[in-house]
Amino acid sequence: MNYRHAYHAGNFADVMKHALLARILLHLKAKDTAFRYHDTHAGIGYYDLAGHEAQRTGEANFGVRRFLDAEQSPGIELLFKPYVDVLRAVGAHVHPVYPGSPMIAAQMLRPQDRLMLAELHEEDHCALQSRFRRDERVKVVAMDGWQAVRAWSPPLERRGVMLIDPPFEQKDEFQRLTKALVEAHRRWATGIFALWYPVKTRREVEDFVAGLQDTGIPKILRMELRLGPFGQGLAGSGLIVVNPPWKLADEARGMLRHLAKVLVDGRPGHALVEWVSGENEPI
Ligand code: SAM
Repeated sequence: MNYRHAYHAGNFADVMKHALLARILLHLKAKDTAFRYHDTHAGIGYYDLAGHEAQRTGEANFGVRRFLDAEQSPGIELLFKPYVDVLRAVGAHVHPVYPGSPMIAAQMLRPQDRLMLAELHEEDHCALQSRFRRDERVKVVAMDGWQAVRAWSPPLERRGVMLIDPPFEQKDEFQRLTKALVEAHRRWATGIFALWYPVKTRREVEDFVAGLQDTGIPKILRMELRLGPFGQGLAGSGLIVVNPPWKLADEARGMLRHLAKVLVDGRPGHALVEWVSGENEPI
């Protein structure tokens, strides 16, 4: 396990993933009934962008910094509001800090909701645990995220979202993602599953999407942002959402088009929102 998210916190992929996650959480909060947030590869939850890891890559300068510096129309501002509200709440608009996915969820969830966070890296697990030690809604466990996907499905509440955000250090991680989704969906067919994936080569992504189609899972939404050419490192970032909240597809179209414009220097990048299976109907 070499991957440390501190080197990448606040990069363009985080902006996309976290802004969409915040919208999903907002939709879940439309009902008063409690729901669950599961994060199977949680990271440390809060990042110091002035620290040596983040400074070494400077990735946040091309992600969250560019995003916050860009002009937004009122409509776009509204779409990003839940994400920006969290950035403001933790001071990310004025200080070099950035909230990870557990912090975004913890900021948005209500007293009746619960969070389960798995992080296997020993040091990162300790950091995450100490970050949330006073929050009774949160349980942090040092367990394998792939086991957590299965073990935590379904939660007691039967409502909620599971973010599966592995580091993609191993070659078979796309296949593992599909396999884990199938098992979890079998146990929790109404759960919202959000799967992050890197966009490096066209072939890899198309094979992944074809594999998802073969699962027969009925409602799968694909959202992708590509800022660079295929075949040259991390060209883009993707999020698969199973059982997406109604309206997410429409919202994501506006959000990703905006990010494709403001997160690049020159020509705009590419935004893609399409159904892998199913269609836009309320769940
Ligand atoms: N979800 C986080 C966010 O958006 O802020 C970022 C997570 S980062 C991409 C992936 C994390 O998974 C790393 O912190 C890494 O230590 C952890 N990890 C790697 N293998 C794991 C495993 N088998 N089980 C649980 N966590 C793992």
